[in-house]
Amino acid sequence: MIRVAVLGSTGSIGRSTLEVISRHPDRFEVAALVTNRRVGALVEQVGRFRPPVAVVAEAALPSDPGGPTRWDTGRDAVLEVAAGQDVDVVVNALVGAAGLEPTLAALQAGNRLALANKESLVAGGPLVLQAAGRGRADVVPIDSEHSAILQCLEGYDRASVQGITLTASGGPFRGRNHNQLRHVRPSEALNHPTWDMGAKITIDSATLANKALEVVEAHYLYGFGYDHIHAVVHPQSIVHSFVEFVDGSVLAQMGFPTMELPILYALSYPERVEDGALRTYDPVMASPLTFEAIDHDAFPLFGMGVEAGRRGGCAPAVYNAGNEIAVQAFLEGKVLFPDMAEVVHATLDGVGNHDVHTVDDVLAADAAARRLAREAVDRLGRAEETGKSA
Ligand code: MG
Repeated sequence: MIRVAVLGSTGSIGRSTLEVISRHPDRFEVAALVTNRRVGALVEQVGRFRPPVAVVAEAALPSDPGGPTRWDTGRDAVLEVAAGQDVDVVVNALVGAAGLEPTLAALQAGNRLALANKESLVAGGPLVLQAAGRGRADVVPIDSEHSAILQCLEGYDRASVQGITLTASGGPFRGRNHNQLRHVRPSEALNHPTWDMGAKITIDSATLANKALEVVEAHYLYGFGYDHIHAVVHPQSIVHSFVEFVDGSVLAQMGFPTMELPILYALSYPERVEDGALRTYDPVMASPLTFEAIDHDAFPLFGMGVEAGRRGGCAPAVYNAGNEIAVQAFLEGKVLFPDMAEVVHATLDGVGNHDVHTVDDVLAADAAARRLAREAVDRLGRAEETGKSA
C-alpha cells in the first residue's frame, strides 16, 4: 500500500489526485488531506476517504467534524504532514510560493514528493535540490510537460541528451497581438481551450508565464542549461514534450490532455499502472498536430521569466511573486491583461538580485517583490482610471 498525503486536496489537482486514488484502492490509501481555506469541501473529502489526519492551513476548524480523523490547523501542521513518517508520497498541490516550505519538509524527511506546486522549485530551486539530496528522496513532477520529459528520459543518461522542448497550448489568446489583448476580460482568460485547471494557472497559461515557470522548473528538475530548454506552441496539447538526443533522434510523450495521467505516473513511478478510466489514445481523433513559435511581443511574460531563470539567485522568486500579485490584480479587475507584464517588469527592476542560501532569503525576496508589485498595480490601476475619465 502506498500512503499518500495530499496538500491542496480541495483544488483542481488535489481533487483529480483523489479520483485517481479512489480507482486504485488496492494500491493507494489517503494518509492525510490538507486545504488552505475550503473547510466545507475538506469535510466532504474526509467523510469519503477517512484519512488519519486532516489539516486546515489558514482557516478555523469545523466545529464538530466527528469521525476518527484527527483535525489540526496552521502552517506548522502542514509541515508536520509533509514530513510525516507514516507517509510514502506527498502530493504538493498547494498554490503559489506558499508551497516551498512543505516541499522542503517532505524532502528532508525522505518522503517522495509528487510536485504540482511548480512555484516552490522556481522560487527555491537550489534549496529544493539540496533538500532532495539530503533526504535522498525523489521529486516526481505532476506537470504534464515534466512528466513527459521524465518518461522520455527513462533509461538514458544525460550525456546522450541534446536538449528538451516543452509544449505550450498557447492559451485562449493564441494568435492575438498586443493591442488586441488590451481589453480581454478575466472571464475570457479563464476559458482555457484544452486544460481544465485552477484560476491562477489558467491565467498563467493565457500570458505564457506558466511556460516560463516550467522552463525554470525543468532546469532544476533535470539539470539542463537554459540554452538546452526550448518551448513551442502546440494548440492541441497532445504532445506533452520532446526530448532530443545527441544523434538527432527525438522522443515525445503523447496522450489526450488529462492531469490524471501525470498524477497516476507520479504516484506509481517508476511502475506503470493500468487504468481503464483514462481515454485511449487515437492518432486519427487527435490529428492534425500543429506547432508554432511563441509570439514574444504579445506574451512578454514568457521571455521575462526565462531571463529571470538565467539570472538565477532570487530573480525567479521575484518574477514568481510579482506574477502572483499581477494575476490576482487582473482577476480582481484592477489592471488590464498587458499590465500584468508591466507589473512583473517593474518588480524585477526594483528588487536587486542576490543569492539564495536559506528559506529566509527566498521569503525576503518574495516579500519585497510583493510590495513592489502592489505599488505597480496601484500605479497602473490609477493610470487606467485617469485614462477612462479623460
Ligand atoms: Mg504544465
